[in-house]
Amino acid sequence: CGIVGYIGKKEAYPIVIEGLKRLEYRGYDSAGIALYDGSDLKLSKTKGKVADLEDRISSEISTKGTVGIGHTRWATHGVPNDVNSHPHYSNSGDLVIIHNGIIENYESIKKELIKRGYTFKSDTDTEVLINLIEDVKKNEDVKLGKAVQIALNQVVGAYAIAVFDKKKPDEIVVAKLGSPLAIGVGEEEFFIASDASPFLEYTKKAIYLEDEEMAIVRLKKGVKIRKIKNDSLVDPYIQELKI
Ligand code: GLU
Repeated sequence: CGIVGYIGKKEAYPIVIEGLKRLEYRGYDSAGIALYDGSDLKLSKTKGKVADLEDRISSEISTKGTVGIGHTRWATHGVPNDVNSHPHYSNSGDLVIIHNGIIENYESIKKELIKRGYTFKSDTDTEVLINLIEDVKKNEDVKLGKAVQIALNQVVGAYAIAVFDKKKPDEIVVAKLGSPLAIGVGEEEFFIASDASPFLEYTKKAIYLEDEEMAIVRLKKGVKIRKIKNDSLVDPYIQELKI
Protein backbone atom coordinates (compact mmCIF):
# COMPACT_ATOMS: atom_id res chain seq x y z
CA CYS A 1 0.00 0.00 0.00
CA GLY A 2 1.16 3.54 -0.59
CA ILE A 3 0.29 7.20 -0.74
CA VAL A 4 1.46 9.94 -3.10
CA GLY A 5 0.57 13.61 -3.26
CA TYR A 6 1.56 16.70 -5.19
CA ILE A 7 0.84 20.41 -4.81
CA GLY A 8 2.62 22.92 -7.04
CA LYS A 9 2.62 24.26 -10.59
CA LYS A 10 3.12 21.09 -12.56
CA GLU A 11 0.39 18.74 -13.72
CA ALA A 12 -0.21 16.47 -10.73
CA TYR A 13 -1.57 13.44 -12.58
CA PRO A 14 1.63 12.07 -14.17
CA ILE A 15 3.61 12.69 -10.98
CA VAL A 16 1.07 10.89 -8.82
CA ILE A 17 0.57 7.96 -11.22
CA GLU A 18 4.30 7.40 -11.70
CA GLY A 19 4.73 7.73 -7.93
CA LEU A 20 2.11 5.06 -7.30
CA LYS A 21 3.97 2.76 -9.70
CA ARG A 22 7.19 3.24 -7.74
CA LEU A 23 5.34 2.20 -4.59
CA GLU A 24 3.83 -0.94 -6.17
CA TYR A 25 6.50 -3.06 -4.49
CA ARG A 26 4.70 -2.40 -1.18
CA GLY A 27 1.78 -4.56 -2.38
CA TYR A 28 -1.86 -3.52 -2.95
CA ASP A 29 -5.26 -4.55 -4.30
CA SER A 30 -6.76 -1.25 -5.53
CA ALA A 31 -5.68 2.19 -6.69
CA GLY A 32 -7.23 5.64 -6.87
CA ILE A 33 -6.55 9.31 -7.35
CA ALA A 34 -8.18 12.68 -6.57
CA LEU A 35 -7.27 15.75 -8.64
CA TYR A 36 -8.10 19.42 -8.17
CA ASP A 37 -8.04 21.56 -11.31
CA GLY A 38 -8.60 24.99 -9.79
CA SER A 39 -12.36 24.69 -9.50
CA ASP A 40 -13.33 21.05 -9.35
CA LEU A 41 -12.29 18.10 -7.21
CA LYS A 42 -12.48 14.89 -9.21
CA LEU A 43 -11.93 11.31 -8.24
CA SER A 44 -11.28 8.01 -9.97
CA LYS A 45 -10.58 4.67 -8.31
CA THR A 46 -10.65 0.99 -9.07
CA LYS A 47 -9.96 -2.46 -7.77
CA GLY A 48 -6.85 -3.76 -9.47
CA LYS A 49 -3.57 -2.28 -10.59
CA VAL A 50 -2.35 1.26 -11.17
CA ALA A 51 -2.41 0.33 -14.88
CA ASP A 52 -6.15 -0.40 -14.54
CA LEU A 53 -6.64 3.05 -13.03
CA GLU A 54 -4.78 4.59 -15.98
CA ASP A 55 -6.99 2.63 -18.40
CA ARG A 56 -10.24 3.87 -16.97
CA ILE A 57 -9.41 7.36 -15.72
CA SER A 58 -9.71 9.28 -19.00
CA SER A 59 -13.24 7.93 -19.55
CA GLU A 60 -14.23 9.14 -16.06
CA ILE A 61 -12.51 12.45 -15.33
CA SER A 62 -10.19 15.00 -16.86
CA THR A 63 -6.65 14.48 -15.63
CA LYS A 64 -5.93 18.22 -15.44
CA GLY A 65 -4.94 19.82 -12.16
CA THR A 66 -1.94 20.94 -10.14
CA VAL A 67 -3.00 19.29 -6.88
CA GLY A 68 -3.43 15.55 -6.57
CA ILE A 69 -3.40 12.69 -4.09
CA GLY A 70 -3.16 9.03 -5.01
CA HIS A 71 -3.40 5.76 -3.14
CA THR A 72 -2.73 2.08 -3.42
CA ARG A 73 -4.85 0.10 -0.97
CA TRP A 74 -4.16 -3.06 0.94
CA ALA A 75 -7.66 -3.77 2.23
CA THR A 76 -8.11 -4.22 5.97
CA HIS A 77 -11.75 -3.14 6.44
CA GLY A 78 -14.07 -3.87 3.55
CA VAL A 79 -13.34 -6.17 0.61
CA PRO A 80 -11.20 -4.95 -2.27
CA ASN A 81 -13.67 -3.31 -4.67
CA ASP A 82 -14.12 0.02 -6.45
CA VAL A 83 -16.24 1.63 -3.71
CA ASN A 84 -13.88 0.69 -0.88
CA SER A 85 -10.87 1.99 -2.81
CA HIS A 86 -9.43 5.31 -1.78
CA PRO A 87 -9.67 8.32 -1.96
CA HIS A 88 -12.84 8.77 0.10
CA TYR A 89 -15.00 11.89 0.16
CA SER A 90 -16.58 13.33 3.28
CA ASN A 91 -20.39 13.66 3.22
CA SER A 92 -20.24 17.30 2.06
CA GLY A 93 -17.96 16.35 -0.82
CA ASP A 94 -15.51 19.09 0.19
CA LEU A 95 -12.93 16.89 1.88
CA VAL A 96 -11.08 13.93 0.49
CA ILE A 97 -8.70 11.48 2.21
CA ILE A 98 -6.18 8.77 1.45
CA HIS A 99 -5.08 6.49 4.26
CA ASN A 100 -2.70 3.64 4.85
CA GLY A 101 -3.19 1.82 8.12
CA ILE A 102 -6.08 0.88 10.40
CA ILE A 103 -8.50 2.90 12.53
CA GLU A 104 -9.20 0.35 15.25
CA ASN A 105 -12.07 2.16 16.98
CA TYR A 106 -13.88 3.06 13.75
CA GLU A 107 -17.07 1.17 14.68
CA SER A 108 -17.92 3.26 17.74
CA ILE A 109 -17.07 6.49 15.88
CA LYS A 110 -19.19 5.37 12.93
CA LYS A 111 -22.20 4.73 15.21
CA GLU A 112 -21.91 8.23 16.65
CA LEU A 113 -21.63 9.78 13.20
CA ILE A 114 -24.65 7.83 11.92
CA LYS A 115 -26.66 9.19 14.88
CA ARG A 116 -25.70 12.65 13.70
CA GLY A 117 -26.96 11.94 10.20
CA TYR A 118 -23.79 10.88 8.40
CA THR A 119 -24.07 8.23 5.71
CA PHE A 120 -21.40 5.88 4.42
CA LYS A 121 -20.82 4.52 0.93
CA SER A 122 -17.99 2.14 1.78
CA ASP A 123 -17.19 -0.41 4.46
CA THR A 124 -13.85 1.20 5.26
CA ASP A 125 -12.49 2.60 8.49
CA THR A 126 -11.05 5.43 6.38
CA GLU A 127 -14.42 6.87 5.34
CA VAL A 128 -15.26 7.05 9.05
CA LEU A 129 -12.13 9.11 9.71
CA ILE A 130 -12.82 11.67 6.97
CA ASN A 131 -16.35 12.19 8.24
CA LEU A 132 -15.09 12.53 11.80
CA ILE A 133 -12.74 15.24 10.54
CA GLU A 134 -15.63 16.94 8.75
CA ASP A 135 -17.82 16.73 11.86
CA VAL A 136 -15.11 18.24 14.09
CA LYS A 137 -14.42 20.99 11.54
CA LYS A 138 -18.10 22.00 11.46
CA ASN A 139 -18.93 21.63 15.14
CA GLU A 140 -15.84 23.29 16.53
CA ASP A 141 -15.54 25.78 13.67
CA VAL A 142 -11.82 25.16 13.25
CA LYS A 143 -9.50 25.08 10.24
CA LEU A 144 -8.75 21.80 8.48
CA GLY A 145 -5.40 21.23 10.22
CA LYS A 146 -6.93 21.67 13.66
CA ALA A 147 -9.87 19.44 12.75
CA VAL A 148 -7.50 16.68 11.62
CA GLN A 149 -5.56 17.03 14.86
CA ILE A 150 -8.65 16.87 17.09
CA ALA A 151 -10.02 13.90 15.13
CA LEU A 152 -6.73 11.99 15.31
CA ASN A 153 -6.71 12.44 19.07
CA GLN A 154 -9.96 10.46 19.16
CA VAL A 155 -8.59 7.68 17.02
CA VAL A 156 -6.86 4.44 18.04
CA GLY A 157 -4.80 2.78 15.34
CA ALA A 158 -2.14 3.39 12.75
CA TYR A 159 -2.09 5.75 9.85
CA ALA A 160 -0.36 7.72 7.18
CA ILE A 161 -2.99 10.10 5.82
CA ALA A 162 -3.29 12.98 3.40
CA VAL A 163 -6.38 15.18 3.53
CA PHE A 164 -7.42 17.84 1.01
CA ASP A 165 -10.21 20.42 1.24
CA LYS A 166 -11.45 21.87 -2.06
CA LYS A 167 -12.43 25.05 -0.18
CA LYS A 168 -8.77 25.48 0.86
CA PRO A 169 -6.96 24.22 -2.22
CA ASP A 170 -3.54 25.67 -1.40
CA GLU A 171 -2.81 23.07 1.27
CA ILE A 172 -2.62 19.35 1.99
CA VAL A 173 -2.71 18.11 5.59
CA VAL A 174 -0.75 14.96 6.37
CA ALA A 175 -0.21 12.91 9.52
CA LYS A 176 1.64 9.79 10.57
CA LEU A 177 1.52 7.10 13.21
CA GLY A 178 2.96 3.70 12.44
CA SER A 179 2.93 3.98 8.64
CA PRO A 180 5.67 5.92 6.83
CA LEU A 181 5.26 9.41 5.37
CA ALA A 182 7.82 11.62 3.63
CA ILE A 183 7.45 15.16 2.30
CA GLY A 184 9.54 16.24 -0.70
CA VAL A 185 10.38 19.94 -0.66
CA GLY A 186 10.81 21.55 -4.08
CA GLU A 187 10.71 25.11 -5.44
CA GLU A 188 7.17 26.25 -4.74
CA GLU A 189 6.04 22.66 -4.92
CA PHE A 190 5.72 19.82 -2.45
CA PHE A 191 5.46 16.07 -2.73
CA ILE A 192 4.02 13.57 -0.28
CA ALA A 193 4.81 9.89 -0.39
CA SER A 194 5.25 6.69 1.59
CA ASP A 195 8.94 6.82 0.71
CA ALA A 196 11.10 9.22 -1.29
CA SER A 197 11.10 7.21 -4.54
CA PRO A 198 8.09 9.04 -6.11
CA PHE A 199 9.76 12.47 -5.84
CA LEU A 200 13.51 11.77 -6.14
CA GLU A 201 13.64 12.95 -9.74
CA TYR A 202 12.16 16.33 -8.72
CA THR A 203 13.84 17.07 -5.41
CA LYS A 204 16.41 15.56 -3.06
CA LYS A 205 15.13 17.55 -0.09
CA ALA A 206 12.98 15.43 2.17
CA ILE A 207 11.28 15.67 5.54
CA TYR A 208 10.42 12.36 7.21
CA LEU A 209 7.56 12.76 9.66
CA GLU A 210 7.97 11.03 13.00
CA ASP A 211 5.17 9.05 14.63
CA GLU A 212 2.45 11.26 16.11
CA GLU A 213 3.41 14.19 13.93
CA MET A 214 1.24 16.02 11.44
CA ALA A 215 2.12 18.63 8.84
CA ILE A 216 0.25 21.32 7.03
CA VAL A 217 1.86 21.58 3.60
CA ARG A 218 1.09 24.99 2.09
CA LEU A 219 1.95 26.08 -1.40
CA LYS A 220 3.28 29.54 -0.48
CA LYS A 221 4.01 29.22 3.22
CA GLY A 222 5.80 25.88 3.35
CA VAL A 223 5.60 23.05 5.85
CA LYS A 224 4.41 23.45 9.42
CA ILE A 225 4.85 20.40 11.64
CA ARG A 226 3.12 19.77 14.96
CA LYS A 227 2.90 17.02 17.53
CA ILE A 228 -0.61 15.59 17.24
CA LYS A 229 -0.96 14.97 20.99
CA ASN A 230 0.48 18.03 22.73
CA ASP A 231 0.22 20.55 19.87
CA SER A 232 3.87 21.68 20.12
CA LEU A 233 5.52 22.95 16.94
CA VAL A 234 8.37 20.88 15.51
CA ASP A 235 11.20 22.43 13.48
CA PRO A 236 11.12 20.75 10.06
CA TYR A 237 14.32 18.75 9.62
CA ILE A 238 15.04 18.79 5.89
CA GLN A 239 17.39 16.02 4.81
CA GLU A 240 19.49 16.27 1.66
CA LEU A 241 19.11 12.80 0.14
CA LYS A 242 22.25 11.36 -1.46
CA ILE A 243 20.56 8.88 -3.80
N1 GLU B 1 -7.76 0.43 6.47
C1 GLU B 1 -7.88 1.07 5.20
C2 GLU B 1 -8.78 0.28 4.28
O1 GLU B 1 -8.99 -0.88 4.46
C3 GLU B 1 -6.54 1.36 4.54
C4 GLU B 1 -5.80 0.13 4.10
C5 GLU B 1 -4.40 0.44 3.54
O2 GLU B 1 -3.46 0.58 4.34
O3 GLU B 1 -4.26 0.54 2.31
O4 GLU B 1 -9.32 0.81 3.36
